[in-house]
Amino acid sequence: MYNPKSLKAEEFINDLEIRETLAFADENKDNLELIDSILEKAKERKGLSHREASVLLACDNEDKIKEMYNLAEQIKKDFYGNRIVMFAPLYLSNYCINGCKYCPYHISNKHIARKKLTQEDIRREVIALQDMGHKRLAIEAGEDPQNNPIEYILECIKTIYSIKHKNGAIRRVNVNIAATTVEEYRMLAEAGIGTYILFQETYNKESYEELHPYGPKSNYAYHTEAMDRAMEGGIDDVGLGVLFGLELYRYEFAGLLMHAEHLEAVHGVGPHTISVPRVKHADDIDPDAFDNGIDDEIFAKLCALIRISVPYTGMIISTRESKQVREKVIRLGVSQISGASRTSVGGYCEPEPEDENSEQFDVSDKRTLDEVVKWLMEMGYIPSFCTACYREGRTGDRFMSLCKSGQIQNCCHPNALMTLKEFLVDYASEDTKRIGEALIEAELNNIPKEKVREICKENLVKIEQGIRDFRF
Ligand code: SF4
Ligand code: SF4
Repeated sequence: MYNPKSLKAEEFINDLEIRETLAFADENKDNLELIDSILEKAKERKGLSHREASVLLACDNEDKIKEMYNLAEQIKKDFYGNRIVMFAPLYLSNYCINGCKYCPYHISNKHIARKKLTQEDIRREVIALQDMGHKRLAIEAGEDPQNNPIEYILECIKTIYSIKHKNGAIRRVNVNIAATTVEEYRMLAEAGIGTYILFQETYNKESYEELHPYGPKSNYAYHTEAMDRAMEGGIDDVGLGVLFGLELYRYEFAGLLMHAEHLEAVHGVGPHTISVPRVKHADDIDPDAFDNGIDDEIFAKLCALIRISVPYTGMIISTRESKQVREKVIRLGVSQISGASRTSVGGYCEPEPEDENSEQFDVSDKRTLDEVVKWLMEMGYIPSFCTACYREGRTGDRFMSLCKSGQIQNCCHPNALMTLKEFLVDYASEDTKRIGEALIEAELNNIPKEKVREICKENLVKIEQGIRDFRF
């Protein structure tokens, strides 16, 4: 029985409800009256239910799709302006006891190089990341209670926050580790993590069990209910995601929105972010082995519809995607991107030798952070290194209520300009600096409140003088 308030995976992600939703969407994909009414509702910017959004996804009327894209672009502009938040992944360890068929870190892969960073390695990696200009990391580790116990993860977080190299600092550490217990989530919350991210991979239980033949991750319910335990353990911000390509994308899309509805119904706050990875090539993984791959057009439509359906949820895209794809979906709703990522363990200090591959997936976008920043600015975006909300205690429902009040613009915009200024002064090439300074000058006028604008201007001068870490 479908029940978004239930704490049982199979009730809040209910297979029958998803199948009925998809049948309803198929029946109504040409029902222009219904589609118009859903688009009207979406214009109120309060989101859509999984059923409504699924009808839009099924619709293949070109004019209506254009309307969806236009609306997604408008909502993106209204909520996120032209800012794009930057982050980088940091792989701590690729030891893993699971058997995920789409990931090269699965335990049966005997030829991949297994690595685990020591605290000294982490120091070096973090310094390399700080020297690029990163302020926000997402740490990643395989599931292995012996090699990567929670104590190791906590120690790594402590080390990362402690490193202050030149003007650098990592100000927010998001964590992407396996589903765990309430007690361990509490430890992570106490360690001061930002978002806890856990991809569902697929919401389809049958496929999930087939793709995860052994290891702790093979337990569908334990994995699907992880976010509830995380929130019970005091983590306010959680990040969802599916790996598109494993199952039918329409099934995953409905499941993803149902998960968001469930979090809102039970905890009063939806997901902080949604990530949209697609299966990519990696050591011993061939994406063609999965027959549900989606093309760039469908991918763009998914991004646009996520933007419309959950306007307050940030959307993340990684360097799995090429520059061209990123260009397209940033416009349609993506609010956070990674830059200059290395998906191998210890990849920031020195490139891996050919025979020592420890990458989780192939990176499509291989540009440096300076190049990505410049590219974004040339398209009219403001790359932001802001981490203010979490550090000001604006997490969970406090963050959402600020978002809904519309006042977030008075924080995000000046914070983006001030953190970009730090990047320009400390790390940018001359070219990037020139473009950035002109952008900041022009964008100061777009800070809504005059008082905030004045303070921001003063802080920009102070950043030139060497003072760091201003925030609203
Ligand atoms: S996806 Fe995660 S749990 Fe699965 S094999 Fe890879 S690292 Fe391990
Ligand atoms: S002010 Fe908050 S919401 Fe805005 S960019 Fe910074 S951390 Fe994100």
